[in-house]
Amino acid sequence: MEIIGLFGGTFNPIHNGHLALAQSVLNTMHCSQIRFIPAAIPPHKAIPAVTAQHRATMVHLAIAGHPQFVLDTCELDRQGPSYTIETLHLLRHRLPEQSLCLIMGQDSYLKLPTWHRWLELLDYCHLLIVHRADSEHQLQLHAAHASKLVDIAQAPQQFAAQAYGLISYLKVTPPDISSTRIRAALSQADHTVVDGLPEKVLHYIQENHLYQS
Ligand code: ATP
Repeated sequence: MEIIGLFGGTFNPIHNGHLALAQSVLNTMHCSQIRFIPAAIPPHKAIPAVTAQHRATMVHLAIAGHPQFVLDTCELDRQGPSYTIETLHLLRHRLPEQSLCLIMGQDSYLKLPTWHRWLELLDYCHLLIVHRADSEHQLQLHAAHASKLVDIAQAPQQFAAQAYGLISYLKVTPPDISSTRIRAALSQADHTVVDGLPEKVLHYIQENHLYQS
């Protein structure tokens, strides 16, 4: 089976840490594509001041030229909080023959038990957790997941052999960048000195006067 990576986030804004993470997953898992799925209304964060449309456009600009990176705006077409379980339900319907691999940083995995219907996620997809700078070097799995872990060396074959239900942990560390720190830098600094953003995204932010205090 083809493996399709699903990378959800607020992308407020998308940064080089996101892109490095996606590239590492692509290289390791041999995914046929990685779908970037911006949240319209993130359930666990304050509603972003920058609209979902702007955030999706920045994702589009950041991934242009990467043939295996795809923008998926399915969460922008729904009302209410962007629950991942609902997105998975929709994508599973659209992609019935593929192995789906939900990608998240280790910080997100730790908060998983606060997600809507989190125990059902593995009924739709596999989970690939990526190490994040300043997280523990050992992954603490939630008890309900203890029997689902496969070593990363076997993950490409095992994730391709079944459509959902497994977990693996990728110990690469993408650059230590966060959208929060980028927003803070953009609101204070001369925009030309802000690091960590793809150039086209920085230009878009400047042209549209985003993240100004
Ligand atoms: P914020 O600082 O606003 O919380 P963020 O930088 O964490 O944002 P999100 O869009 O919320 O960005 O992240 C989407 C996903 O990417 C999450 O699962 C997060 O853990 C992961 N992620 C983002 N940046 C990194 C990074 N530098 N290293 C590893 N994982 C990352």
